[in-house]
Amino acid sequence: MRALIASLIALAPLPASATPMLLQPDRVWDGEAMHSGWQVLVDGTRIVAAGPQLPVPAGTQRIALPGQTLLPGFIEGHSHLLLHPYDKTPWDDQVLKESQAYRVARAVVHARATLMAGFTTVRDLGSEGAGTADVGLKRAIDEGHVPGPRMIIATRALVAPGSYAPKNDAWAVPQGAEEADGPDLVSAVRRQIGAGADVVKLYGDYRWRPGEGSRPTYGQAEIAAAVAAAHDAGRPVAVHANTAEAMRRASAAGADVIEHGGEGDAATFALMAKNRTGLCPTLAAGEAIARYRGWNGQEPAPADVQADRAAFRLAMQAGVPICMGGDVGVFAHGENAREMLAMASAGMSAAGVLTAATAGNARMFALADRGRIAPGLLADLVAVAGDPLADLAAVMRVRFVMKGGETVRRD
Ligand SMILES: [Zn+2]
Repeated sequence: MRALIASLIALAPLPASATPMLLQPDRVWDGEAMHSGWQVLVDGTRIVAAGPQLPVPAGTQRIALPGQTLLPGFIEGHSHLLLHPYDKTPWDDQVLKESQAYRVARAVVHARATLMAGFTTVRDLGSEGAGTADVGLKRAIDEGHVPGPRMIIATRALVAPGSYAPKNDAWAVPQGAEEADGPDLVSAVRRQIGAGADVVKLYGDYRWRPGEGSRPTYGQAEIAAAVAAAHDAGRPVAVHANTAEAMRRASAAGADVIEHGGEGDAATFALMAKNRTGLCPTLAAGEAIARYRGWNGQEPAPADVQADRAAFRLAMQAGVPICMGGDVGVFAHGENAREMLAMASAGMSAAGVLTAATAGNARMFALADRGRIAPGLLADLVAVAGDPLADLAAVMRVRFVMKGGETVRRD
């Protein structure tokens, strides 16, 4: 009887993740370097070996990926899964006129598109008026109810009262983030962490009125108190800042990553390099907004795009740790790799871009279990057609995606 049961079990089809899998691409980007002829062995949810001509256990399933490059699953550094492109629906209308149910339903679709594009982790920097909907979305993905990337979430994010949007001269309207300042800022940081924030996002500057340039919003002591409260709770801090002064305050306060940084100068970036403050340049969002205003994508790019690129080059020259994050949501989810191409257009090497999108972002976000292809790490993997070191646009040609040892896409 026992033998009969054993043979029945042996005949039953096993889920893919229960059998070791040998992935056989032409080459492997391990997070920091390219290796021709490497293979990767996956068992369960983890990578168990990587290298040339690996010995494999009996019964290993072989997955041929001819002509392809295998990389660690890409890590999106700055997303908004609860937003969709502004050329179809302006940001104000998304915040004011779309119900949370509608926004969540669309976010489920966005999450799937993100994963299918090879992005197995996202740092999602604010629900933009959708409350703590990101907490539920993350849970539904983690429990396997809907497909999507692993999420690092910020919940509502924090803005100084009166500084953010939407604006209305006549009456109070719902805001795209939680308003708090002074001693209440620290309380709000703690409330957001208690509600599920993995990262604390605050806006260090903004346009006080439409048509103005950005100005600092929080004082030095406010940012320092918010950072201290977040770090006490083991949460990193991301600060939206475009002005040199807000960037300087954020870096001096010990913030972990500065988002955008479009007006940063050499002195600011030197301070960030010294303090090891990361920069997430979000070049693709600036390019998308320029396109919405009529740019056809040809060079020379409009002045705003060129100014963002120039600031990014200053940051690279200063040795600032660079994040790959495009502010996707401003443009279509699933097109996250546009940021990688934008970074290259601004002068970063293909190797620099690939590192930023994999091992670099993992290091910046303290994700020790991913971002590289090495034994013991999560089997979060993407294969693309061609060699992205020779032609970076290959990162758009995704043919295979694995998350936690489960094949979620194979073309
Ligand atoms: Zn953003």
